[in-house]
Amino acid sequence: MRRFLSEVAVMAFLSIVVGGTPALAQDRQGAPDKYKWDLTQLYKDPATWEAAKDAFAKRIPEIASFKGKLGDSASVFYSALDTYANMDKELSKIYSYASFAYDLDTRDSAAQQRVQAIGQVAGDFGTAASFITPEILAVGKEKVDGFVAAEPRLKPFVPFLDNILRMKAHTLSPAEEHIAALAQSKMGGAPSSIYGVFTNADMPYPEVTLSNGEKVRLDAQAYTKYRALDDRAERDMVFREFWNKYGEFKRTLGTTLYSAVKAHTFDKEARGYDSCLQAALDRDNIPTAVYTQLISDVNSNLSTLHRYLKLRQRMMGVGQLRYEDLYANIVKGVDKEYTAEEAMKLVLQAVAPLGKSYQEALSNGFYNERWVDFFPTQGKRSGAYSSGSVYDLHPYELLNYMGRYEDVSTLAHESGHSMHSYLSNTHQPYITADYSIFVAEVASTCNENLLLHYMLDNTKDDAARLSLLGTYLDGLRQTLFRQTLFAEFELKIHEMVEQGQPLTGDSLNKLYLGLLKKYYGDEAGFCKVDDRYAVEWAYIPHFYRNFYVFEYATSIIASTSIANAIRQEAAAKKPSTKARDAYLKMLSSGSSEYPVQLLKDAGVDMTTSAPFAAAMKEMNGVMDEMEAILARQKK
Ligand SMILES: [Zn+2]
Repeated sequence: MRRFLSEVAVMAFLSIVVGGTPALAQDRQGAPDKYKWDLTQLYKDPATWEAAKDAFAKRIPEIASFKGKLGDSASVFYSALDTYANMDKELSKIYSYASFAYDLDTRDSAAQQRVQAIGQVAGDFGTAASFITPEILAVGKEKVDGFVAAEPRLKPFVPFLDNILRMKAHTLSPAEEHIAALAQSKMGGAPSSIYGVFTNADMPYPEVTLSNGEKVRLDAQAYTKYRALDDRAERDMVFREFWNKYGEFKRTLGTTLYSAVKAHTFDKEARGYDSCLQAALDRDNIPTAVYTQLISDVNSNLSTLHRYLKLRQRMMGVGQLRYEDLYANIVKGVDKEYTAEEAMKLVLQAVAPLGKSYQEALSNGFYNERWVDFFPTQGKRSGAYSSGSVYDLHPYELLNYMGRYEDVSTLAHESGHSMHSYLSNTHQPYITADYSIFVAEVASTCNENLLLHYMLDNTKDDAARLSLLGTYLDGLRQTLFRQTLFAEFELKIHEMVEQGQPLTGDSLNKLYLGLLKKYYGDEAGFCKVDDRYAVEWAYIPHFYRNFYVFEYATSIIASTSIANAIRQEAAAKKPSTKARDAYLKMLSSGSSEYPVQLLKDAGVDMTTSAPFAAAMKEMNGVMDEMEAILARQKK
């Protein structure tokens, strides 16, 4: 089950689409098959899937039959773990088919029922297998080491076993673990499901009429598109209508978020952690200092964000920058469009510094194995993600491709995840093929960085360079600063609940608005933030993922550093492949090593401020170049 929970969370955040409706925007219904997933690669049809699900459900007693026997002998111990890994792998595939089909059309109630049905089976499996962790702990490190020495087939399980044994102090008795697993499977997901159904299906999104007469239903997808309109009055309207509507539901959405946070405190208290943060980060053996370090690094470098805001204000030619201005094109008129075909080609060329074999595997995924479902259709899940949940087959990428540069960048991003899955699934046994979120977003943002630099290397025109550099800064604003703002918010709401303070729509609004004003320099006039946007927290699904967003920020910091090293190496007089090889090794390592160590081996030490300082240096360098161009243009 571990595998599922983490990889469903691998979602892109930066599916920003700027400008009006691109001419190339295509509906997936009318698109050729090569731009769509072929789910028959998984199961011939829903009936075949149903049979696989039922067969799996019947096998659940197999894993339960090992209960109480793990300490019997090395060979029984091995059989139990092997059975668990194989069943989990099978379940993951069955689950994936259901959730992929549902994501392609969330209005399809049969697909929704399949997701619910397999969710039930997955819960039953999780409950049946819940004895494994406490029983391994009961067997104890000494005996486990003896088993590993006696049974060579246990070797691939060593990182998995280490990870359990190190959690001894926070693991409960078998009976208590059973209850915790029951609570998780029966109730744990409720706040997030309610939030998802409400915001995806039931929320009465406002309808607005654009100046060209077009009537638009302003759902999340449309909001991310129209908040970037060039016409200021028009995007003001988009912001106003969208956030006013969210404001009407702050009580309900505050209650769902409160419930989610309370569920996290359940875990913290039941397992004896000092804080929800510590409980959440312990999953990946990440010291809480990495988190608090990030928040303090960002807070002491808000002047770099403010420099960016000042530059944006100057380039947009507005007297006072406002929160409504942050998604609009910084340079007008260079919004080039790319077909899906061109996007694939660009991404493949951009990843050249990662080497031939990386390029070829991705190319095979694009053109032969149909990894990507490109275009939007009504009912298709919004945003973008990549899933490596089908170990034996290939990764799956869901996009809502609209043809802008940002969409090409999203393809690069998701393909970074896909290649990470591909390499780990190829090089690791199932039990260590999954990778933690902490390294996941390094693989994706590294590719975004490579794409940007590829574009810059091939763009001499000042206006086009300004546009690319501006897009890059927008990315840093959103991935580094905005996600850290979210991270700070997330930490504070958990601390409030830990101290017994309830979360309400109003208290969440107050806290969020304070952070918005601080980050964006409202008081000093860098960017004015209207009180209406206090409710933005209600729009962020990631708050249901328990300390997830900070990893976007740490990842972009790490990937900036890694991509820099690889590019420098490739461009050197005597090219070396040391940084590249270290990085590819990380991508091929799954969870065979702890994530902070994996990054250290790939050349970045996230327990220090050094990578952050390097990212700020790159950001300031980009602003230096932009200011130089503007000076040449006498703007
Ligand atoms: Zn991602």
